[in-house]
Amino acid sequence: MSSKNLSIIGLGLIGGSVALGLRSAGAPWRITAYDTTSEELDLAVEAGAIDHAAPSMEEAVAGADLIILAVPVLAIVPLGLKIMEIAPAGAAVTDVGSTKESIVSAMEVAPSSEASFVGGHPIAGTEDSGFAAAREDLFSGAPYITTPTSRTREEAAEAVTGLWASLGSRIYRMSPEEHDRLFALISHLPHLAAFGLVGTVLSQLDPEEVERFTGGGFRDFTRIAASDPVMWRDICLDNQRHILRTLDHLLNELSFIRETLAEGDGEALQHIFEKARRLKRST
Ligand code: NAP
Repeated sequence: MSSKNLSIIGLGLIGGSVALGLRSAGAPWRITAYDTTSEELDLAVEAGAIDHAAPSMEEAVAGADLIILAVPVLAIVPLGLKIMEIAPAGAAVTDVGSTKESIVSAMEVAPSSEASFVGGHPIAGTEDSGFAAAREDLFSGAPYITTPTSRTREEAAEAVTGLWASLGSRIYRMSPEEHDRLFALISHLPHLAAFGLVGTVLSQLDPEEVERFTGGGFRDFTRIAASDPVMWRDICLDNQRHILRTLDHLLNELSFIRETLAEGDGEALQHIFEKARRLKRST
């Protein structure tokens, strides 16, 4: 099988895991990468994850058949629009950003580009960042969401989903709007709850006391509060509309629980907890 040229812009946790995963799958891609941090590129070359560390974005995308933007959410559009101008004709350009509506709507109307954009989001990750945290099996068995629209060129969509399928991902398709509404609920809201809970506890206890006495409950619930603050700032700002709506729902639910407790209504409290347990056990 003849190899094609893949360019990865941003070689941190996600970009690095794509490179390692393709290598381990023996996928026929010649991989060039570019990152603003040269250490990430050095580590990837040492690990044999990439064929070429490009010294500039221009060199990285020259001759590429497929370009993956694996940079922080708010960097995707400014960088992506520049790349659309210089990408080879017919190239497919995709991203891995955790939000989709604003990225897809800005990228799809990139002026005078002969490349095609397809939005995407792999549903896999860890609290760690950088190439050092990258893993070859990160996407194996994990969902990958592609968000094509009526403007998407079918061949570009197929090239992108083909690459993710070769990493072992399970491919799902939905609109960018549907994606952002869904992830506001199942990912962004839990992160905000974890950040808020850690803030609440640490404003009243000193960290040593927390460390000494916390059991599985606090640890399980707050694991994701150790996630990258810049990444989460970007996600919140970019998906503000959907996240505010989900936060209102959570605040209403907590207010209801508070009222029920203040009234000492044990039966109602038990009913709330039973309903949640039933739902949790059925998922
Ligand atoms: P990361 O480990 O911090 O990697 C991002 C890399 O991109 C860093 O090395 C960064 O360098 C580099 N970069 C930033 N701006 C750049 C630019 N203009 N040109 C070239 N390189 C640039 O972050 P990540 O966790 O891989 O996240 C990347 C994307 O994946 C984000 O959009 C995120 O929403 C998405 N995502 C993350 C997860 C997760 O769990 N982490 C899961 C799914 C999707 P510097 O460090 O020098 O800025």
